[in-house]
Amino acid sequence: MKIIAVIGAGTMGNGIAHTLAQRGFTVKLIDVSEKALDKGMTTIFANLDRMVFKGTITEEDKFKTLNNIITYTDIEDGVVGVDLVIEAASENIDLKLKIFRKLNEICSHNTIFASNTSSISITQIGNVVAHPERVIGLHFMNPVPLMPLVEVIRGKKTSDKVTKIIMTLSEKIGKNPVEVNDAPGFVANRILMPMINEAIETLHNKVAGVYEIDTVMKLGMGHPMGPLQLADFIGLDVCLAILNVMNEGFKNPKYTPCPLLVNMVNNGRLGVKSGEGFYDYSESKKAEKVSKQFI
Ligand code: NAD
Repeated sequence: MKIIAVIGAGTMGNGIAHTLAQRGFTVKLIDVSEKALDKGMTTIFANLDRMVFKGTITEEDKFKTLNNIITYTDIEDGVVGVDLVIEAASENIDLKLKIFRKLNEICSHNTIFASNTSSISITQIGNVVAHPERVIGLHFMNPVPLMPLVEVIRGKKTSDKVTKIIMTLSEKIGKNPVEVNDAPGFVANRILMPMINEAIETLHNKVAGVYEIDTVMKLGMGHPMGPLQLADFIGLDVCLAILNVMNEGFKNPKYTPCPLLVNMVNNGRLGVKSGEGFYDYSESKKAEKVSKQFI
C-alpha cells in the first residue's frame, strides 16, 4: 500500500493526511472546499513546525511530509491509482452514503474503503458498494498525529483479510489499533458522548459553570482535559451528530442531546473550529490573554 486518498480536510482529515505522509505514504487529500484544503494544509504546516520546535522531527522531515501530500477538489482526480480511501467528511449519513456510492463507481474493486466515522454503521456504508467485504471503520482520535489509538470497526461483511491489512497499516503508522464490532458509537463514543452530554446538561441546569465542571473532572478524575473543553476540540456539531446517531440507533432517551448543545450548534458556536464554543478561541481573546501575561 503506497498511495492513500483522504476525503475531507477538516479537523480529522488533515490530521490523518499528516500522520500518513509523515510515515512516507503519498496522500491525496480531497475536499469539496478549496478554503478547507488551504486551512487543512496550514494546520499541517503549523503542527509540523511545532514538532520541529520540540525536536521530534527535523526540518527535512517536515518538508518531506509536506511533499507527500497533494490536494484535490475533484474526487475523481483524487482517487486515481489509490490503494485505500479513508473518508473523513462531515458526520452525516446521507453525505457519507453519497460519497461511498460515488467511490463505488469510480474506484477499482480492489480499492479498500475505510470510514473515519465516529458513530455511523459500517455495515450500512458497506451495503451501498459492490464487495462490502472491503469496507471497514478506521476511527482515529483527535489530534491524530498525537493520539495513539485507532478503533478498527468490522462491519457485518468486512473480511478477515481487509481487517488484517488495516490493523497492520495502523501499526505501521505508529498507532495502537483495537478491533471492535459495529454498533452505534462503537466503543469510544458510546462511552465518551454520554459523559460530554451530561456535562453540558449540568451546565444547562446551572449546577456549576464551565470552568468549575471542567476542573472537577480534571482534578477529581484525573482527566487531562475537562469534558466541555474536549467537546470544543471535537466540534460541537460532531458531538451533536454522534448523539443523534446513538439516540436513533439505540432508541434510548439517555442519548438525547442536551438542548443547550442543540442551540449552540444552531447558532454556529461549534468550538475551536468556529472560534467559540464553551470557551472563546477567537484571535482577539488569544491576544488579550497574551497581553495580560505581560501586564
Ligand atoms: P470537520 O467539520 O472538521 O471537517 C469535515 C470536512 O469534510 C470539511 O472540510 C468539509 O468541507 C468536508 N466535506 C464535506 N463534504 C465533503 C465531500 N462530499 N467531499 C469531500 N469533503 C467533504 O469534521 P471532522 O471533525 O474532521 O470530522 C470528520 C469525520 O471524522 C466525521 O465522520 C467525524 O465524526 C469523525 N471524527 C471526528 C473526530 C473529532 O474529534 N472531530 C474524532 C474522530 C472522528
